[in-house]
Amino acid sequence: MSRDLYLGIDMGGTQIKIAVVTPKGIIKEETAISTDIKAKPFTILKAIVDVSVRLKSYSKIKSIGVGIAGDVDSKNGIVRFSPNLPKWKNIELKKILEKLTNKKTFVDNDANTASLGAFWLDTKGKSNNLICITLGTGVGGGLIFNKSLYVGASGTAGEVGHITIDPYGRKCNCGNRGCIETFVGAKYLSEYASKYFKKNRSHILDKIINKEYPLITPHLLSKIASLGDKYAKEIWNIVGEKLGIFLSIVVNFSNPDTIVLCGGLSHAAKYFFPRLKSEVNIRAFRSASKACKIIVSKYTHKLGVVGAAMLPKH
Ligand SMILES: [Zn+2]
Repeated sequence: MSRDLYLGIDMGGTQIKIAVVTPKGIIKEETAISTDIKAKPFTILKAIVDVSVRLKSYSKIKSIGVGIAGDVDSKNGIVRFSPNLPKWKNIELKKILEKLTNKKTFVDNDANTASLGAFWLDTKGKSNNLICITLGTGVGGGLIFNKSLYVGASGTAGEVGHITIDPYGRKCNCGNRGCIETFVGAKYLSEYASKYFKKNRSHILDKIINKEYPLITPHLLSKIASLGDKYAKEIWNIVGEKLGIFLSIVVNFSNPDTIVLCGGLSHAAKYFFPRLKSEVNIRAFRSASKACKIIVSKYTHKLGVVGAAMLPKH
């Protein structure tokens, strides 16, 4: 029997997605289990294998790819640390899965697998140089140069979330000040918006919430922007400005043909994209910005699992 399919596993903090993927990055079959963060790593991996072997096309699977958030030694397939799974410390994920399945296994961090997902799903494998930016709780990035994943000397290439935008800005989790993450990371953005609306009473927000304002999440911020709230629009405009400054650095530095934005905040792109685009046009080297398509992924929820499956090809 020919074995030409790939199994992708996306280890999220609440859900583990599993999919069988074709060599062109198309999902053939998929399933998911919820993540038991209290369980032992081996128990979780055993559960993943039990579910996977029941997939109809399992016998045609050539290899396995796993994407997981955190510090991953991709060369040896070891998870040094994962913020989503506190019990996972120096887990030999590759070794364990290979023992359980007898299939070659590849492991990488979720920003890298998302970028491979964007390469296959959003550009159908056509891009040559692609940067994928994940806009979620944090800001992550993955780099694809000459159609191959670029991980750098110690595997941390693409840590773009900690590029400094304002040297005097707010303190970031990483110890630096004014990283792009302190402007557009979901947690920081919620804090900023909540403070803003403490000072500025919004008639539109008053209509929805007639008592003290709750935490202004990016989702709520989008909702009131869609109802025409001028303060919410102003905050999204600032997000666009900062992201535009950030992306003009990315464009000048790496001259990519495609930048893909994904993650939770990318769903609000229509509120910040125009400003983002104009900042890149003003700031980046002209021929570089002309050659770079900036797009919002249409497949945010599938990127991780498809990209993980495609790891052996890159
Ligand atoms: Zn930082």
